[in-house]
Amino acid sequence: MRTTISFYTFGCRLNQSETAVVRRTFEADKRYKIVDFKTPADIVVVNTCTVTENGDADTRQLVNKINRNNPSARIALIGCQAQIQKNKLTELANVRWVIGNARKTDFHSILKETKDREKPCVITPAIPRDSFTVPIAGIDRSHTRANLKIQDGCDFFCSFCEIPYARGRARSRAFEDIVLEARALAEAGHKEVIITGINVGTYKNQNKNVVDVVDALEQIMELKRIRISSIEPTTVPTGLIKKMAKHTKLCRHLHLPLQCGSDTILKAMRRKYSADEFGNFVRQAHDTVPGICIGTDVIAGFPGEAEEQFQETTDRLREWPINYFHIFSYSQRSMAQSQKLPKAVAKHDIAVRSKILRELGLRKRHVFYQSLLETQQPVLFEQRKNGYWTGLTDNYARVKIKSDRPLANQFLNVRLTQIDHQAIIGAID
Ligand code: SF4
Repeated sequence: MRTTISFYTFGCRLNQSETAVVRRTFEADKRYKIVDFKTPADIVVVNTCTVTENGDADTRQLVNKINRNNPSARIALIGCQAQIQKNKLTELANVRWVIGNARKTDFHSILKETKDREKPCVITPAIPRDSFTVPIAGIDRSHTRANLKIQDGCDFFCSFCEIPYARGRARSRAFEDIVLEARALAEAGHKEVIITGINVGTYKNQNKNVVDVVDALEQIMELKRIRISSIEPTTVPTGLIKKMAKHTKLCRHLHLPLQCGSDTILKAMRRKYSADEFGNFVRQAHDTVPGICIGTDVIAGFPGEAEEQFQETTDRLREWPINYFHIFSYSQRSMAQSQKLPKAVAKHDIAVRSKILRELGLRKRHVFYQSLLETQQPVLFEQRKNGYWTGLTDNYARVKIKSDRPLANQFLNVRLTQIDHQAIIGAID
């Protein structure tokens, strides 16, 4: 009888791309049968995240849920939280493997050697600093848009962030290896790839940077769209903006984490720019690339953020041409430097500020969507939900249309007619 195995991913695109690789190693082995996460499985692999307090709590809650629904499951916790909180994780019931980032994609071979062990198997070696290859293409048929990992780790050590500990120092994937995977993803039918990493703007391998990566991917005929995931504002090469302006395959979409709009707080966060520098860059990108969508991340309630600093953030966000926000409520991370800072913000104030920012973000997106009404846009459709097919424009507008035709992974020219909550309803003429 085949051993059943299921997968669950928390956190970022990089985690999704790595789960896809682990999954492929099991797909290639006939002794295993991959089942949907909702189906009880013999082995459940959870790729964890530790970016916020919530990420940690989510793992605990998911393990409890797995144990309630399927008490005989053996659980593998892999990834960021496994890397830095191994002791806590081994205490959870039925957790049999805790595998850090350096070895998580080897889970298939680790399982072969350790499946009969009674005690939890903990493997969390230090993460190497060298450039790397990913020998298996992370083809993931459950997603239309494919994540393509080009980089891992970070050397910036922002004071609120544990990522340099969980994922190690910045390192880049071998250039040819990226192109090989991109070809495999295109051959498998993916029309859009998302260039993914922790700090993708720092990519460097054989004197190639992230623009060279985009150039190489553009040569792959079957790939129609290339999107850059989140990129640190100080690392965006001018070549990237110029390329977006030329309407190549590179999507007109930038996600630039601001974190805060007050210089005092940016300094305490150890970010590498002032608020004005960020604003000037955003304006320049907006003016250079017609129709660009710019998104950002903001942390509400960093220590020392008084009303005055919060106001600076909201004033600037209101004014700058930023089209949507991802809001994070500040939470203490045990390895982050910011936990030593005085003047913690009360939980209630953090919640209020997060809500204000979320509402402002929704209003800004509404204004962006309004600017697209009555235009015609190519949309790559992904899935059908509540009677509508939904997909994205290259500039990151969520579009939905009514259609009985199967539209998954299809491009259609859609006329955008009406805003409906967080999407735009479209029509095909
Ligand atoms: S740039 Fe800062 S926030 Fe982003 S991963 Fe690196 S340390 Fe963390």
